[in-house]
Amino acid sequence: MVTYDQFTAHCEAVLERLAQACQACGRSPSSVRLLPVTKTHPFEAAEFAHRFGLASVGENRVQEALIKRPQSPAGLRWELIGHLQSNKAKQALQAFDVLQSVDSAELAARLGRIATELGLTREVYVQVNSGDDPAKFGCDLAEAPAVLEALLPHPSLKVVGLMAIAPLSDDPAVARRTFAELRRCRDSLEARCGVKLPELSMGMSGDLEIAVAEGSTCVRVGSALYGSRPAL
Ligand SMILES: *Cc1c(COP(=O)(O)O)cnc(C)c1O
Repeated sequence: MVTYDQFTAHCEAVLERLAQACQACGRSPSSVRLLPVTKTHPFEAAEFAHRFGLASVGENRVQEALIKRPQSPAGLRWELIGHLQSNKAKQALQAFDVLQSVDSAELAARLGRIATELGLTREVYVQVNSGDDPAKFGCDLAEAPAVLEALLPHPSLKVVGLMAIAPLSDDPAVARRTFAELRRCRDSLEARCGVKLPELSMGMSGDLEIAVAEGSTCVRVGSALYGSRPAL
């Protein structure tokens, strides 16, 4: 785990990369937010993010967030970025403010029903496997309309956009294609369903510049801020 001084230096370096990437494509740096990914790191990682002035942290497991969150600053928002099993829907709604990994119509309906029962409202993203990677979660591009349509009837869930993870590849064209597909998917969903989906969560430590060039509004960054993760 890094020290707070190292974390600060890493944050400044990542914010500089974001600023450069925005400048290169004529976007405002304020149009992309940095979501620090604290998974596998001790709860201090979330405290560092809060102290630096970042509003949210990303975690990929419900259980880990439930353990860390009570020890972390109260004002921080917690965002789920990992696969959600439907039997953990209730716990996920309790542990997280934002769910970025809604990837099936069935899960969408279940989350909507439980959030209403609990009297909770949550922001959600549809996770789309726009890189067509058999190793990644997310609905297929063709299923995205059905997932969105399963979310829309639930006032407890506010759909703000889409999320994708690029396939692991040495070829930057693979990430570029994945992110461009996600943006096109968003554009067609907006036209088809008559809703606004302003958020595109795409880009991580290794490919955030490409994601910004393709329209990302949220880069999820772990290792560039906190160092490499302990092996699971
Ligand atoms: C771990 C993770 C990240 C961060 O990855 P880094 O390469 O460490 O920046 C981003 N998004 C998701 C969904 C993750 O699981």
